Amino acid sequence: MLRRMKKDGVHPNLATFKVILSACGHAGCVDDANACVNAMRELFGLRADTELYDCVIDLLGRTGRLDDVEEKISLMPVQPRLESWLMLLGACSNQADLQRGEYVANQVFEMFLECTAPYVILSNMYVAAGRDSDAERLLSRMKEKGLMQSGECSYIEVDGVVKKFSCDDRSDPQEQEIHDELGRLERLAADADFKATSHGDVASDNTSCYHTERLAIAFGFSCTVHKSSLFVAKSAQMCSECHVFLKIVSKVCDKEIIISDSTGVHRMQDGACSCAN
Ligand SMILES: [Zn+2]
Ligand SMILES: [Zn+2]
Repeated sequence: MLRRMKKDGVHPNLATFKVILSACGHAGCVDDANACVNAMRELFGLRADTELYDCVIDLLGRTGRLDDVEEKISLMPVQPRLESWLMLLGACSNQADLQRGEYVANQVFEMFLECTAPYVILSNMYVAAGRDSDAERLLSRMKEKGLMQSGECSYIEVDGVVKKFSCDDRSDPQEQEIHDELGRLERLAADADFKATSHGDVASDNTSCYHTERLAIAFGFSCTVHKSSLFVAKSAQMCSECHVFLKIVSKVCDKEIIISDSTGVHRMQDGACSCAN
């Protein structure tokens, strides 16, 4: 299309190249992307902005070139945004490069004091590496800094992006989709003999807002079909009903569900939890 645009005399702009880079990223074509960036500069005289840099970072991260991502970030002529750093951290998580992840997260902690995402992503990486106590320690540190609000909330990371679920925030554009997915999980659990005791149908009334880990898990299910495990960090203690519910979901959906709450890390698989409750 770019070649045709050139032939037809249509001048591409930065948006054109962002789309091309995004396509290269999904297809893993690093060489094509490099050629495209060069053409952008040399043939069309366009200069990259932060968003275009992010496309390049995303592409390199997806293809596992973490050294190149670090180099790109350090050489950026503009100040890298939080998003750029989180993309690198997310790529470290996808590549299970814990050492680099720790290094990157520590830099983000210092540069962006108010940001919860690096804590959640790094905790997720610790949990994936079986280092549950390090994950707990890190989330406690996040809490001590006042980053986890006192109201009950849950965090889940999907592809380097951290999503927060809290009682008071009902503005999620995907809310209907998430509730539909939660309804589906609850029907599956009900078929497997799960009886909701105190809260009734959490998908249809307001009480679900106190069980934000369910919403986070439903969100995780709705967008990560391919993943074998889901990790959620919760600010308060999980109630016993959610504990039972999620254990059943881990069995009927054949997924490992890991919840870090105020009491510790719960690894649920095949209907059982590591806490032995
Ligand atoms: Zn609950
Ligand atoms: Zn447990």
